[in-house]
Order: sequence, then structure tokens, then C-alpha cells
Amino acid sequence: MALRELKVCLLGDTGVGKSSIVWRFVEDSFDPNINPTIGASFMTKTVQYQNELHKFLIWDTAGQERFRALAPMYYRGSAAAIIVYDITKEETFSTLKNWVKELRQHGPPNIVVAIAGNKCDLIDVREVMERDAKDYADSIHAIFVETSAKNAININELFIEISPHSVRWKQIRERRLKKLALKTEKGAISQGIWPISRSKGQGASR
Ligand code: GDP
Ligand code: MG
Repeated sequence: MALRELKVCLLGDTGVGKSSIVWRFVEDSFDPNINPTIGASFMTKTVQYQNELHKFLIWDTAGQERFRALAPMYYRGSAAAIIVYDITKEETFSTLKNWVKELRQHGPPNIVVAIAGNKCDLIDVREVMERDAKDYADSIHAIFVETSAKNAININELFIEISPHSVRWKQIRERRLKKLALKTEKGAISQGIWPISRSKGQGASR
């Protein structure tokens, strides 16, 4: 049976539930007194999909500012990044947007981004509307799900969506590659490399 390895990293503010999501996915359990992550932790889980085995190599990072400089070590070379926010804390959604920017600037160009709005069991104290988060995710061509590590909602689905057989995964990779191709073209124009004939034409009409 073929084995595909998929490096994934989790990013997001401290306390949003990154480690709990990984723990739920790998061990199918939840620890309300989970220890804060120091630096980063690594876990793997292999799931069978048709006649392939998908091995997720998961880097769970620490959200604290003092560990921020380490993040590139984990997202570089990743096929997918799961950026997590807490639906009950608006400011964690702002942090998420900063992570998206950082990934766009310094991450692998075709990285698949998934946004997870965690703690969706705490609906009574919600601060981030699902619609707003979904619209934002669509605008950056990211996968979006609301999750609860506590109640095991959408955790497996989240990992299924970022695996290479998912339709969303393929769509996103294609869109990202198209965008990249366009950028390269634009870059060539702004450097005056291409197309020479257009500037000649404009000159002649004046
Ligand atoms: P991390 O810093 O992003 O890795 O967050 P942790 O996984 O350490 O979780 C931080 C706190 O949030 C812990 O007290 C968890 O028990 C709690 N937590 C994590 N996920 C959920 C969830 O889905 N629902 C609720 N209610 N609490 C959660
Ligand atoms: Mg953690």
C-alpha cells in the first residue's frame, strides 16, 4: 500500500486549543488541564484512505510571542498549515490574520491553509461570527471549519480536508498556483521585461 507523508503545522494564539485539536485527532481524547506547549511538539497519525496510507506529520507550535521567531522552522516545508482561533475571543481572530500575512510572505508558495474556529461548544459566549470567518477564509482561498476539540466536532473533518485527496485541497492548490503564475507575469511587466511591443504601440499613438 502506498504511503504519503503530509507535513502539517498548527499556528495561532496561545490558548485557542491547538494542542487540544492535535490531541483529539491523534488520541481521540481531551484534557481540560492540558499543559501549555513549550517551543513546539511533534506527533504523527496515519489514516487509511482507499488504497493509500496518509501519514500526518504534525508540528504543534507554541503561540507565545517569545516563540514566534521559531515558527518558520515549522511552516517551511509544510504542505498545509492549520491556523486556529477561538470563536469566543475576537483578538485571536486578528492574530490569525497576521499569521495568514506571514505565511503569504514567507511560507511555501503553494501551502494549503485551513482556518479552524475552535471551541464551537461555547456558542453562548461567541465573539466571532461564523459567517464573517467563512467570508474571510473564502477571500484568501482557505479551508474553513468550526471545531470543538472538547466535544470532538469537525476534528477528523479538518484533517480530511487538508489531505491530498480532498477536492478543496486540489481547488486551493490550483488557485494558488494560478495566482503565482499571474504574479510572475506582473513582475515581468513591472520590471519592463515584457511586453516590449505594447510600450512601442503606446508611443506611436501619441
Ligand atoms: P493551545 O495553547 O492553542 O495549544 O491551547 P490548548 O490546547 O493548550 O488549550 C487551551 C485551553 O482551552 C485548555 O484549557 C483547553 O482545555 C481549552 N480548550 C481547548 N479546546 C477546547 C474546546 O474545543 N472547547 C473548550 N470549551 N475548551 C477548549
Ligand atoms: Mg499548545
